[in-house]
Amino acid sequence: MSESIEEFIPPRMRAIEAEMVSLRRHIHAHPELSFEEFETSELVARRLTEWGYSVHRGLGGTGVVGTLTNGGGKSLGLRADMDALPLTEATGLAYASRRDGVMHACGHDGHTAMLLAAARCLAESRSFKGTLNLIFQPAEEQGGGARKMLEDGLLERFPCDAVFAMHNMPGFPVGRFGLLAGPFMAAADTVTIRIAGYGGHGAVPHKAVDPVVVSASLVMGLQTVVARNVDPLETGIVSVGAIHGGSAANIIPDSVELRLSVRSLSKDVREHLQERITALAHAHAQAYGARAEIDYERGYPVLFNHPDETRLAQSVVRDWLGDAALVHDMRPITNSEDFAYMLEQCPGCYLLIGNGDGAGGCMVHNPGYDFNDEILPLGASYWVRLAERFLC
Ligand code: ZN
Repeated sequence: MSESIEEFIPPRMRAIEAEMVSLRRHIHAHPELSFEEFETSELVARRLTEWGYSVHRGLGGTGVVGTLTNGGGKSLGLRADMDALPLTEATGLAYASRRDGVMHACGHDGHTAMLLAAARCLAESRSFKGTLNLIFQPAEEQGGGARKMLEDGLLERFPCDAVFAMHNMPGFPVGRFGLLAGPFMAAADTVTIRIAGYGGHGAVPHKAVDPVVVSASLVMGLQTVVARNVDPLETGIVSVGAIHGGSAANIIPDSVELRLSVRSLSKDVREHLQERITALAHAHAQAYGARAEIDYERGYPVLFNHPDETRLAQSVVRDWLGDAALVHDMRPITNSEDFAYMLEQCPGCYLLIGNGDGAGGCMVHNPGYDFNDEILPLGASYWVRLAERFLC
């Protein structure tokens, strides 16, 4: 760790740093897919129990909540995600994944370790007044573990005055934090459109209804939704990521399937995109004598950072590391994140912590990515400071 950052890490965090790094690397070597975080949640539950937390398991399947109360006062929720991705690791690291086709390529191993390190420091120092709810969530990548935990009564069983979560961000320097009030991450919907025509011989097109032609026209037409229907000052994305249809040059297929990723940063734009995409698909199909079947699947909602909690989260960074530690040109990002569900039900804030430019500068979800252990004590110390500030 660079000296300038190290001076900001309290001695009690430095004392456990090596152990928490090795714990992070253990989780990295033993990654588990969404809703299969059995060993990881076991490890989390065991450590929290050792440190005096009362531990509750099985929320949202493999989710764990550790609670610690120190006198009366407010209650705070801090959330880390635990799941890995279906990817084959290509880092060549000594602690690389020992499981074929499964990899911690998004740094959730680091998020879990940072929250555990904070858990330990706070349990030892008891430097807060109120209740800490440490939320270790399954399946952020696939399946919406946050929503599953909420459906299992997370916020009724463990009421929180505010909830916070943190994600590493490759490319942001070590020691920087990025966060923004309001819409911060996009809603992400997946749409499957099946264009049903009437198959036939490629030499006799007039006896068929060609779904390939309809699809080609529709793909171009869909690009007009953002260009012509969405307010130019708003954000909308319509990406056709897959087209499947046909088997030979001389056969007109019966049907073609399109798969779309649709993103937005507001409820209104989200509704409008759905309305326009649906209308265009039906109208295009009808114009050529075909039929459109549409499966519009709503994914994670817009992640909305609440203003007061965001101000608090920013001031913790500012008072600790100085104003320059905040990313000042932060803009919303078009990735999605299921912590959005928690922020729909409870005030709070989601923030990014710089992962630096190391490990080849890989972005998350890349087989060469690795969480930067240098930021582990930094993220953990941030959680401690936030808890001390909120629960005082
Ligand atoms: Zn992630």
